Amino acid sequence: MNDWGASVYGDPCRECGYNWNLSLTNAISLVSHLPTAYGGLLTGRSGNEQHPELNWSVSEYVTHVADNLRIWAERLMGVLRGASPLVGSYDENLLAKARNYRQIPVEAAMWSLTRSVDDWLAATEASATSGVVVIHPERGEMTLSDVVLSNAHDAIHHQWDIARTLQDLDGSSAPQPG
Ligand SMILES: [Zn+2]
Repeated sequence: MNDWGASVYGDPCRECGYNWNLSLTNAISLVSHLPTAYGGLLTGRSGNEQHPELNWSVSEYVTHVADNLRIWAERLMGVLRGASPLVGSYDENLLAKARNYRQIPVEAAMWSLTRSVDDWLAATEASATSGVVVIHPERGEMTLSDVVLSNAHDAIHHQWDIARTLQDLDGSSAPQPG
């Protein structure tokens, strides 16, 4: 078990409450429900809402999560098809700048999220019995389970960011971890 996520964020995550002991099946299920969960939070919202402590608007978080899932699906499929297990890292802030996340409307971001979740589910399913190991420059050796838990955390953490942004605007208290 790769402990990169738990060591960086805490177990459970100090902010969003994510439990790193989640089963592989439950973590995959969490990701599969992201379009519904994010869609529910964003109903009636412009996507431009931004928390004063955060660098991204809620729509930018949706695009980040979509891109991150798509990138991890691509990494898994490359290794599965015989590429070196050593994957390259990417800078999420440079990607946001290059893609001009701010100008991507929430409707487009949600479409991308749904597509990325589908690609990610296909890649994790294809990897299920492969014993695939990915070597990440900062996170080290990652099994499929490590990849899934890390990707699910990113999505749930930013779901929490979106929820607290919207609740802050609505004047209610911050969401509890969970
Ligand atoms: Zn978290």
